[in-house]
Amino acid sequence: MGPVNPGAGAPPVLPANELESLRAEAQVMEEQLRAINERIAGFKGEARSPMLVAAVDREMCVACDVCTAVCPVGAIHVNDVAEVDPNKCTGCARCVTECPRGALSLHARS
Ligand code: SF4
Ligand code: SF4
Repeated sequence: MGPVNPGAGAPPVLPANELESLRAEAQVMEEQLRAINERIAGFKGEARSPMLVAAVDREMCVACDVCTAVCPVGAIHVNDVAEVDPNKCTGCARCVTECPRGALSLHARS
């Protein structure tokens, strides 16, 4: 069933079951994109840096999601603020370059 239009001028409302279905579809696509980006990173020789990992300054982060979009391996998730999974991060620095707030930086792995 398509979107329900409650009236002229009002935005269309999606039925709850269709919304859930779209969310599930989006999640599958996210996983596929992550897998593709991991393969691309592998072809580019972007092997995991044994030395560096990204970290977030929680005071600076505005949860804009830019970093999640640019991270090639899906190492960042944003809830209230961005969080980096050090087990996935390859230290490529893309998030550091793209964050509009300067909230990300690379640090030596401990
Ligand atoms: S790009 Fe920067 S400000 Fe935006 S969510 Fe990521 S860390 Fe936060
Ligand atoms: S440095 Fe940033 S963009 Fe690169 S893998 Fe780590 S979290 Fe992702």
